[in-house]
Amino acid sequence: MAVREAATSRGSKLPNLNLATSSQSAESAHHSSVFAMELTTSDARLVDLRERLGRVMDLRAAANVLEWDQETYMPDGAAEARAAQIATVRSLAHEHFTTDEIGRLLEDLEPEVEELDPISTEAALVRIVRRDYDKARKLPTSLVARFAEAVSRAKQAWKRARAEDDFPHFEPHLRSLIDLNVEKAEALGYEEHIYDALLDEYEPGMKTALVKQIFDDLRQDLVPIVEEIAGRPQVDDRILHQNFDPDLQWNFGMEILKDFRYDFTRGRQDLSAHPFTTSFSISDVRITTRITPDFLPSALFGTMHEAGHALYEQGIDPELERTPLADGASLGIHESQSRLWENLVGRSRPFWQRYYPRLQSIFPKQLGAVPLDAFYRAINKVEPGFIRVEADEVTYNLHIMLRFELEMELIERRLDTSDLPAVWRQRMQEYLGIQPRNDADGVLQDIHWSLGAFGYFPTYALGNLMSTQIFEQAGRDLGDLDEAIAEGNFGELLAWLREHIHRYGRKLDALDLLERATSQGLSASSWLAYVRRKYDQIYPPGS
Ligand code: MG
Repeated sequence: MAVREAATSRGSKLPNLNLATSSQSAESAHHSSVFAMELTTSDARLVDLRERLGRVMDLRAAANVLEWDQETYMPDGAAEARAAQIATVRSLAHEHFTTDEIGRLLEDLEPEVEELDPISTEAALVRIVRRDYDKARKLPTSLVARFAEAVSRAKQAWKRARAEDDFPHFEPHLRSLIDLNVEKAEALGYEEHIYDALLDEYEPGMKTALVKQIFDDLRQDLVPIVEEIAGRPQVDDRILHQNFDPDLQWNFGMEILKDFRYDFTRGRQDLSAHPFTTSFSISDVRITTRITPDFLPSALFGTMHEAGHALYEQGIDPELERTPLADGASLGIHESQSRLWENLVGRSRPFWQRYYPRLQSIFPKQLGAVPLDAFYRAINKVEPGFIRVEADEVTYNLHIMLRFELEMELIERRLDTSDLPAVWRQRMQEYLGIQPRNDADGVLQDIHWSLGAFGYFPTYALGNLMSTQIFEQAGRDLGDLDEAIAEGNFGELLAWLREHIHRYGRKLDALDLLERATSQGLSASSWLAYVRRKYDQIYPPGS
């Protein structure tokens, strides 16, 4: 659930300049402030900063390896020992990052990079690291410790509460995590809205007011779209609920990964209970998938989704290796990449024109007699449901808006935790026309709040909206994407994404990156137009 972090052990490329004396540093500081444009990558202070950050990144990468192993191969009995190991390595990374030395180097370098192009590696490194550094130092150690403790208790309580459908068991923990988030937001500071401080952790630079406005626009159009679809002849997706051999599912997913140009010399796929992407460096970006024998889409689209995340991180400029810039710009941009490959490519008709015959040849008994159109409609079936992670492309964003609104109201203290289950049901009715049978399938379904992660949910919907804006711009620049996709040719699309999105890493915040790539601000209109176009065809009006 943590923001993915990348790092590498490619330390040998940078000379170790810990030998640089303080007088040398002071001298070059004076020199460079007169000739600001002369700051070069060989500047001793920059090299020193990169080396110190490199060690932080190595520690973060080590923690990521431990976590990856925990989710894939680790025996269950190791859980407690592993938790301690991860906590130790993470706290070492935090200690190494928040040293006074890094603060002094940033102070020294800030005037030097002022006149550089803001997306030069030097300027971006100093700017983004300063932001991370200030945030990391603003949180009192005691708050971090109390937060971690509360989370570990809340996670246990949430697991039990969900299993036993017992919200009151979780409620006191949720209450204390809300208090701690308010405390955290106050410590981090904000200008307009307290929620800004929390959102900023996952979507740097994004403002609550903008998200609220975009979600309001989205809701106004989306609720009637879902209602209209519900009133039209429904899609039958029973063909997807047959028995599909897990090995054959795995092999087909691997074929698609290769065609998407996921680089297996710098990554691998494994199995885990919950699919995820993690990276240990730009040259080691791994994914996992989950295979459900009696439901084909689970592994199929899960693999494509994680491939989108991984292609992003494999495409980051190698120059950013072993720095905090070697990561996605935000969770929203990250999700835009996973959704682009999963939905805009992977659930499109042109894609299946190419791949359906192959899939039929793998599963002749299950799909041999099923026409392409029936398969295409089945994988795009729209049906309001209780569970966010099982939601289709159309209804998914409504699940997110509901959570975003409740989070804001909780953080603003306009909603009390004791009223949460009732408000949840009432809003589900309003947005999706259904009410969960119980709290386990309602307010207790997601792990996020038990982890204290407030501000995370909206990034999923922002990613969906950005995915169509980005995909459509790629289409405008490249000509007919449908044709390339129908030929199984993803090279040009990937190259476009590399050029306009991936290579920047964290140099630009989401809105700047989007503006640069598409000449547009964030908006729901492109996604809404896409949904109308696609689903009017799958669910024809007046039929
Ligand atoms: Mg994702």
